[in-house]
Amino acid sequence: MSSLRVFTLNNGIKIPVAGLGVYKMPDSESSQKAIEYAISIGYRHIDTARIYNNERVVGNAVNSGIIPREQVFVTSKVWNSDQGYDQTIRAFQTSLHKLNLDYLDLYLIHWPVISKRKDTWRALETLYNDGKCRAIGVSNYMSHHLEELLGYCKITPAVNQIELHPYIFGNRIDTINKCRQNNILPIAYSPLTKGEKLKEPLLIKMAAKYKKNAAQLLIRWCIQHGFAVIPKSTVTSRIAENIQVFDFEITSEDMEILDHLNAGLATGWDPSEVD
Ligand code: NDP
Repeated sequence: MSSLRVFTLNNGIKIPVAGLGVYKMPDSESSQKAIEYAISIGYRHIDTARIYNNERVVGNAVNSGIIPREQVFVTSKVWNSDQGYDQTIRAFQTSLHKLNLDYLDLYLIHWPVISKRKDTWRALETLYNDGKCRAIGVSNYMSHHLEELLGYCKITPAVNQIELHPYIFGNRIDTINKCRQNNILPIAYSPLTKGEKLKEPLLIKMAAKYKKNAAQLLIRWCIQHGFAVIPKSTVTSRIAENIQVFDFEITSEDMEILDHLNAGLATGWDPSEVD
């Protein structure tokens, strides 16, 4: 299926272009069903985190036998209060246990906690070298955080997961450029602005030209920029439409219009203001 399209990370590992985010999905049977549905229609990347409190149901869905576990790319993240070398190693084991998996595909530092991030990165390098995760990376790292990390890391992060959509793009260009210069793949979180901008007339009108909706337009915008993308939905019809994004191409003129919608809209914490 279309979501099997992949990017190759800087260590040769492949990551699906589009995946399913599960932030705010409760630890419930209905969440598990939604994730299983996503896998059954072709999603091959599930993005969770310790702080989402749903690793158990993500693991249940991945282990449900719809397809072999090796064919699903599973990401989790170390939460801020678990950072530090020993704590991160322990947090990783806890996540793995909750997920009921032998390894992760990708493990990320969720936020760049100032006093801990260096030791946390060392822990991720240990986990990677020990074969516990196939790739390691960061999240919410702005260009100055990356600059600092690149000064001491032994392994360059494979990805940087940051909020990305047209309404924040202008504020993220430095960070995206820093990623590109260092072969770090940007992953777009909250690509649908958490739903906030999906009723914008400009998006609806532009999407209609392609016989698509605003959500599909925003996801496609990410893909055409070369970002991996992880929209979240628990609604089966939306889960399905959110990967029907490989059968159209936004024109360069429309990409240009979208690229200039910047309104500095951070729908969560803004990492440029949090240290
Ligand atoms: P999204 O931008 O993906 O938006 C999700 C919202 O949009 C939900 O309310 C969903 O509702 C709605 N929605 C989804 N698809 C459609 C559609 N086709 N039409 C209309 N509405 C739709 O927000 P998230 O913040 O969840 O970001 C995606 C993922 O990124 C997260 O789930 C998480 O995995 C990751 N993330 C990472 C962060 C980090 O710090 N690293 C921070 C935030 C997110 P419904 O479920 O009812 O369909």
